[in-house]
Amino acid sequence: MGLPTRALIAGAGITGLSTAYFLAKKGISSIVVEKRQNIGGMAVPVDLGGVRMWQGVHLLHASSKENRALVEELAGLMRPDCLVVRPSAKVFYGGDYLSYPLMLQELVARFGFWVLLAGGFHGFWFALRKDALNPAFDSFEDVARSAFGDRVYRMFFADYTKKLLGVEGKEIDAEWALKRLPLPGFRRLIEGLLPWAGFRGLSAHDMIGEVQFVGEEGMTSLATGLVQACKEKLRLELNCKVKEVHWGENGVEGVVVQREDGGQEEFSDVFVVSTMPLPELLRCLVPPPPEDVMEVSSRLRFRGVTFVGFAFEKRPSLKADWVYVQDEAFIFNRVGDISRFTSNPLLVAEVSEERAKKCEGNLVEKVLCDLCRLPGLENLGEPLWAGITSENRAYPLWHKGFRQDLKRIFAFIGSIKGLYSIGRQGAFEYLNMDECARMALDLVSTVIDE
Ligand SMILES: Cc1cc2nc3c(=O)[nH]c(=O)nc-3n(C[C@H](O)[C@H](O)[C@H](O)COP(=O)(O)OP(=O)(O)OC[C@H]3O[C@@H](n4cnc5c(N)ncnc54)[C@H](O)[C@@H]3O)c2cc1C
Repeated sequence: MGLPTRALIAGAGITGLSTAYFLAKKGISSIVVEKRQNIGGMAVPVDLGGVRMWQGVHLLHASSKENRALVEELAGLMRPDCLVVRPSAKVFYGGDYLSYPLMLQELVARFGFWVLLAGGFHGFWFALRKDALNPAFDSFEDVARSAFGDRVYRMFFADYTKKLLGVEGKEIDAEWALKRLPLPGFRRLIEGLLPWAGFRGLSAHDMIGEVQFVGEEGMTSLATGLVQACKEKLRLELNCKVKEVHWGENGVEGVVVQREDGGQEEFSDVFVVSTMPLPELLRCLVPPPPEDVMEVSSRLRFRGVTFVGFAFEKRPSLKADWVYVQDEAFIFNRVGDISRFTSNPLLVAEVSEERAKKCEGNLVEKVLCDLCRLPGLENLGEPLWAGITSENRAYPLWHKGFRQDLKRIFAFIGSIKGLYSIGRQGAFEYLNMDECARMALDLVSTVIDE
């Protein structure tokens, strides 16, 4: 027996809307159910009393060569509002700005030859072990220390990880380092030593300086473009959340959704693509999953980010489109200047949710005070406007052993015919928007095959 011919998609973020779009291209209809009042999920600006408050800098780019054509297609949906940019970034470290990606000459000038030589030695040894011996690393800290040495780990990664994720590097799975750090491999080392071999600097973000896309309204343009491209194949339900997913031997049996006013509606004869947080999906299942699945699911945690935005009379002179701030003494992890891409004048600082909570009523003052300590921003003056938003599931927190936990959960989900869980929160993966769209596209191919 094949799958039903209609999809119920939980969540109208980039993953959910991309799924609807790729299904529509194959002639399959979707009902997208979104608990918020707007589409686009965590990628889009939020309306704060008429001001479009960006939740950090969001640019569409290809995270891998394979995704380039896909990104071009998505950017096409953003037109005529689509701007093409080549963003720049810097790291603020020890009172000064460093280029990002990090350049060897600058690092030598800043930290001295011997620190770098020691780091290089670690890198060489790491590349050898990683490529030849493939040891099992215990944690993020273990990988980063092995790859860069103790000193570089403390200088660059220890504080920043704690700031971003709220836990020590030793509590985070080694896979986070493999995903997030510019780990040395022999190719990188050779390129680093031979500048003409194409070395572009050390960075976990190879896309900096590459072509990227953004709309005047940020990723609202992408979300709107995806919806419009679905035409009559999409029914969109906002302010409405998935409450129960009923399943049995034959797979998904039906879905109950609840509107803001308390009214409910049931859908049967649908397959379900969930992009909501994985633990939340499991809690919606009727009957509930086996106990061991619920137990491993209770270990999945997310980390939130609070965004503090300001508009000033004069355009602030931030040294790059965005600046990473390693230093523990500054409350924010990153500051982005939205006015570099659009006519929106906001300067947005990202603060981890925990640190934001500790500030209680003083968050705006504290962020403003720290902004004025950044060279170049000393004379910001009084803001014309300030606003705060939060995204409480911005980052999946990859605890040690999380991959095993995910395996158990997805073995269970995979046993329910017509149930899929994808996207940043749904797959518990650290995904960029292009990777979300890729996951949606791959899922649609699987569904069509079934
Ligand atoms: C600070 C920051 C900056 C980033 N910058 C970039 C960038 O520059 N480029 C890039 O490519 N990526 C960036 N990303 C990543 C990007 O935001 C995500 O990859 C993408 O937005 C995830 O989309 P999603 O649809 O998977 O998840 P979400 O956007 O979280 O969508 C899930 C949706 O499900 C809804 N939902 C939850 N529960 C229910 C329920 N029970 N019923 C119905 N709906 C429900 C939620 O309201 C939400 O709208 C950034 C992320 C962060 C946090």
